[in-house]
Amino acid sequence: MIAWRWLGLGLLAAGALCISACRTTTPLIAMHSAAPPGAFFHLTPLRPVAELLPIALAANPPREPGPFRPTALTELAVLDPTIKLDIRYATNRNFLSTPIYSQARAFLQRPAAEALVRVQRALALEGYGLLVHDAYRPWYVTKIFWDATAPENHKFVADPEHGSRHNRGCAVDLTLYDLKTGDVVPMPSLYDEMSERAYPHYEGGSEVLRRHRDLLRRYMEAEGFAVYEYEWWHFDYQDWQSYAIGNMRFEDVLLP
Ligand SMILES: [Zn+2]
Repeated sequence: MIAWRWLGLGLLAAGALCISACRTTTPLIAMHSAAPPGAFFHLTPLRPVAELLPIALAANPPREPGPFRPTALTELAVLDPTIKLDIRYATNRNFLSTPIYSQARAFLQRPAAEALVRVQRALALEGYGLLVHDAYRPWYVTKIFWDATAPENHKFVADPEHGSRHNRGCAVDLTLYDLKTGDVVPMPSLYDEMSERAYPHYEGGSEVLRRHRDLLRRYMEAEGFAVYEYEWWHFDYQDWQSYAIGNMRFEDVLLP
């Protein structure tokens, strides 16, 4: 049985994560103002991920009519090594509590990656850098998320029949770090925290935290990224719909 809960607290909760940010329907958000700050979202997979992986790898993404721009996935850490990574789906620190990605790497379509580097350079003048949690996500991972989730909770995850925005290589989840100390900059909520604090227009919390969040958004928007209305950390690059759903594993991405 699936248990949606705040880790360690057993509080049933419902809401949207970045796993669902990329759905085609309006996310169902149930706000829990009583949820503790920093609470971490967790789901017990229906079946072990090790069993779901070969099934997902053998499946095929939906056929899309197109036409689409050619895929040109670019590795962020190669393009600009000052962009830091904390790829949660390559660790246990994600909603399934087990690594899903085979490697801790981050890719975006080249125009989006180059725009992100421009954001990084502009933010450096303010004393900040970008810390990326997730970017291009192969379609098979979206299928694992779906297959790991009980049908009554499918509204919380992206339907593999439609894919996730992350599958197209123009979506990125990220936050700020302090260039001097290297420390992650505090925001109104944690990454993938499931509460109203995750909303980019959330007016609670301290002014300092909101200023950090709004600074990130301002610099991202200046380079063609749009924030997701329920998650301050999720941004889509312009024209993201013009790329097809990708299913290439990280280890198979050919770099120029
Ligand atoms: Zn996202």
